[in-house]
Amino acid sequence: MGIRGEIEGAQAEIRRRNLSRMLRELHVSRPLSRSELAARLRVDRSTVASLVSDLVARGVVRERRRSTAIPQSPGRPSPVVELRQDGPGALAIDLATDWIGAAVVGLGGKVIASTRRDVSLCGTRPEKVVEDLEGLVRPLLAGLENGPRIVAIGVSVPGLVRAEDGHLHVAPALGWRDVPMGQLVKTQFIDLNVPVFVGNDADLATSAEHLRGSGRGTTDFICIWGEGGLGAGIVVDGRLLVGSAGYAGEVGHVMVDPDGDLCHCGARGCLESVVGEEALLRRSGRDPLGGTSALEDLIAAADRGDPLALSALAESGRGLGIGISGLVNIFNPNRVALGGLYARVYPYVRAPILRELEGRAMPAPRAMVDLVTVRLGGNALLLGAAELALAPTLNDPAILPLEQGPAPVEANEPTEAVLSPASSLSAQG
Ligand SMILES: [Zn+2]
Repeated sequence: MGIRGEIEGAQAEIRRRNLSRMLRELHVSRPLSRSELAARLRVDRSTVASLVSDLVARGVVRERRRSTAIPQSPGRPSPVVELRQDGPGALAIDLATDWIGAAVVGLGGKVIASTRRDVSLCGTRPEKVVEDLEGLVRPLLAGLENGPRIVAIGVSVPGLVRAEDGHLHVAPALGWRDVPMGQLVKTQFIDLNVPVFVGNDADLATSAEHLRGSGRGTTDFICIWGEGGLGAGIVVDGRLLVGSAGYAGEVGHVMVDPDGDLCHCGARGCLESVVGEEALLRRSGRDPLGGTSALEDLIAAADRGDPLALSALAESGRGLGIGISGLVNIFNPNRVALGGLYARVYPYVRAPILRELEGRAMPAPRAMVDLVTVRLGGNALLLGAAELALAPTLNDPAILPLEQGPAPVEANEPTEAVLSPASSLSAQG
């Protein structure tokens, strides 16, 4: 490649990156004016105009004049750039132990439509579960009016997933082993002709909490979820830690007691086997497999001041504190959030966790860390699955085709002249 070719290649790469940065800004913010975008991206107004017109031509954003009710500075009012509701979106699927959920989620994390069926998946063949998705997902898609164009499918599963192809190695709570989940879902919805991405439930919920919930604004964030087992997601320098193949973050299977109980994973004394739901229920004298009703009974007993319930919760808090101390020492997070079961029992586990942190975490990282509960509630998994599915689009919006026909906006800058570089990019995408 000659010098000229190298320069053009570098320019195309910068443009691609700026297009991605602009789309991500809009994805996590409210609508923004061109001048706000210029300030956030640190580029000049003509670059912003060019990038906006590219996103307009791909059917992702539109420009709208601000309402005249909003006082404007003198001169021409700046139009705001907003995501189109009928722009790209994801089909998100959540296969949990006790339910199947599905949602259509647009850019901006907007849940356009969602549905859920409460059903235990334990012991059901995965092929059958995926077939049954048909009855849940098709009505959802058929009911979309002016909804987003589905560009990808994201699936959340409570197990160990290979990122590359969505192969589920094991989902202990469901009794599933070696399931080609990505391929199954792809085949079931082959007519949609979109890629399928599969992720671990705790990882996906953590990425949603990081972007829009309890982890917002942090760079280094850890979420610990008690849902049946104990899952966690770790965000390092703004990115979810996935490891070399997607298996990282199995905090529940870090050993904390060499002589502890046998864990579902086959090892002994894992954090999950010490502080997970089953251990907590057993310690409080309840059926370890009693599920939600046993947990509610335990919390009600704690609220009444029942000594056995309180000591069982304190013991779980102590175990959690030991686990979190190790995480604080290794990852130096700004914030640690507790979700699922641990959010519900937070008032009872907070003090013992902080006590363990005091004694076990190193003073400097401990002083920085903030202990909180998650914020997004039940939507975290679906939002996280959508985030996974939309990541390729957010990373490189030029993979979206240029739409034919007139740009549906009041764009007030010339656009044609700047479209050709992006068109050539899209040919590679
Ligand atoms: Zn284990």
